[in-house]
Amino acid sequence: MSTQGGSNGIGVIRPGATLGILGGGQLGRMMGLAARSLGYRVQVLDPSDNCPAKAVADRVIVAPFDDVEAAVELAKTSSVITLEIENIASRSLEAAAQYCPTRPGVNVLAVSQDRRVEKNWLSSQGFPVAPYRVITTAAELAEAVRELGPSVVKTAREGYDGKGQARLESPDEAERAFAEVGAAPSVVEAWLPLEKELSVIVARSPSGEVRAYPPALNHHTKQILDWSVLPGPLPAELASRAGEVARGMAEALQLEGILAIEFFALADGRLLVNELAPRPHNSGHPATEACLTSQFEQVIRAVCNLPLGSTEAVRPVAISNLLGDLWENGEPPFEAALAVDGVHLHLYGKESARPGRKMGHISASGRTAEDAVQHALEARRRLMQNGD
Ligand code: ADP
Ligand code: MG
Repeated sequence: MSTQGGSNGIGVIRPGATLGILGGGQLGRMMGLAARSLGYRVQVLDPSDNCPAKAVADRVIVAPFDDVEAAVELAKTSSVITLEIENIASRSLEAAAQYCPTRPGVNVLAVSQDRRVEKNWLSSQGFPVAPYRVITTAAELAEAVRELGPSVVKTAREGYDGKGQARLESPDEAERAFAEVGAAPSVVEAWLPLEKELSVIVARSPSGEVRAYPPALNHHTKQILDWSVLPGPLPAELASRAGEVARGMAEALQLEGILAIEFFALADGRLLVNELAPRPHNSGHPATEACLTSQFEQVIRAVCNLPLGSTEAVRPVAISNLLGDLWENGEPPFEAALAVDGVHLHLYGKESARPGRKMGHISASGRTAEDAVQHALEARRRLMQNGD
């Protein structure tokens, strides 16, 4: 195996080795591209034979994420395993860990794959979160809303892009909202007046090196990320506080890999942690062109215990997400977007377009963060002219 001792005795997994990725969606695809560029071999485990990462993988193991034998097969033939989604059964990861390092580890996955565990862990560690309650029945939901006021209920497991969430103005809506989240164990949070949403990606290697990216400023529409800009135009004090929290969290979790932390900034100056993802994140995409190291290269460096790359931003870059809605009248006219100066197109190679499905993103640079956002939105607007 292409391994040698690192500075503190933890092995370095050198280029030429095989990286196993649990999950073959767009994040797995972009991790695979970065790994290939560094000279690694790549194999992916995904339920779909035609997953986006297939195009960049030497091998795809087609199996569900709770298939322990398949995870073990991935581990036996890889030098290290990482993941691109949280919905990996912990027993799969535990079994895989018998055969090769799994980074991030089971402890980090356990915290981030269940909102109840996540919220309880965050508050027990002193990281500020929105007022919340854990509920398992409609009656408990009604009681929580009586205490918290207007709220949002989120399923404990497997929610993303606002899926598995329902808003409530009053306790009377508890039956309806509980049904909407599939009557599953959930977390209820007070619905907060958000001034801003930001996120920080932090990487930590097994040797203990930690590097955080500058925070991104994120804009959501219908609870799905719409655009994001990095570095976000934020007061320096707020940005440095978010970075401190991120670094502290990487240490507290003894993270091996990368972690995305979503924050809510409130008008009164409070900075609350919304949620965690121990993998590359949609809001980290601007770093590909904004920073000296992309989040994808960074996660490969981290899980292979290589020196981490510089997270310095050289210019502001914004991304706008391309949802399946843009495909309503066929393929959008990509050349129109690419005619905007400084624009890059990232398509994920998904089999079919569905409304709300993330198909790709556009990135654009600008002299300022505001300019970059305008360019990314202008480029996307040009894709909407399809069918005119
Ligand atoms: P997901 O896993 O779908 O990203 P989030 O918990 O991050 O779930 O919620 C998605 C978005 O919904 C957030 O980025 C934010 O815009 C909005 N949101 C979620 N919780 C709250 C809240 N308590 N108050 C106000 N807005 C919220
Ligand atoms: Mg989120």
